[in-house]
Amino acid sequence: MAIDRDSTLDWMTRFAGEMAEHRSELVRLDTAIGDGDHGTNMNRGMQKALEKLAASEPADPGAVLKTVAMALISSVGGAAGPLYGTLLLQMGTALAGQEQVDLTGFAAAWRTGLEGVQSRGKAQPGDKTMLDALGPGTEALESAADLDSGLSAAVSAAEQGMNATTPLVARKGRASYLGERSKDHQDPGATSTYYLFKTAAEALTGD
Ligand code: ADP
Ligand code: MG
Repeated sequence: MAIDRDSTLDWMTRFAGEMAEHRSELVRLDTAIGDGDHGTNMNRGMQKALEKLAASEPADPGAVLKTVAMALISSVGGAAGPLYGTLLLQMGTALAGQEQVDLTGFAAAWRTGLEGVQSRGKAQPGDKTMLDALGPGTEALESAADLDSGLSAAVSAAEQGMNATTPLVARKGRASYLGERSKDHQDPGATSTYYLFKTAAEALTGD
């Protein structure tokens, strides 16, 4: 079974819905260790992305992700817009021209996206960023036997990675300005990345 254009559109639509639904939660997390805009940033960017998707009718999964990436890059300031833009742009580029994407291709796209986020943001695992959900989720897909079990393992791994950011001291982004005081707070970007995996599993399982 494979991921196609329609299920990728469904994934991005669900992710936009999740960002709207969890906007205040993400604002609350970012208010504790940042400037409180992560929820509004992600919600605004994904609403813009839905408009662009409706207007451009992308032909394949890679084109869907690239359209969302461009919308995020052009409409979201701060750290997360460019970083999510990079993630999805690199994923979309890795999937270019594939109408059907299997587990191997999907896992490879996440790896390419993760590398893009790392080269852009210079964060390492354990720095209390979105990478701490992205890394475990990607690894779970890479070691899975099939797409459905990989998606489900990726959601659990990303959730654990998100929870594991709580005791960490932030070493990248605005939260790092707080030093030790960034401890005992869950990272907002790792939380939105968990929702990216969660909605992937909802939209792409059974494909
Ligand atoms: P800003 O910090 O500019 O206000 P957001 O609040 O939208 O942007 O996003 C904050 C999130 O971005 C953080 O919780 C963290 O997960 C992520 N982030 C910040 N800097 C980096 C980085 N250098 N690499 C990876 N992720 C980062
Ligand atoms: Mg912020």
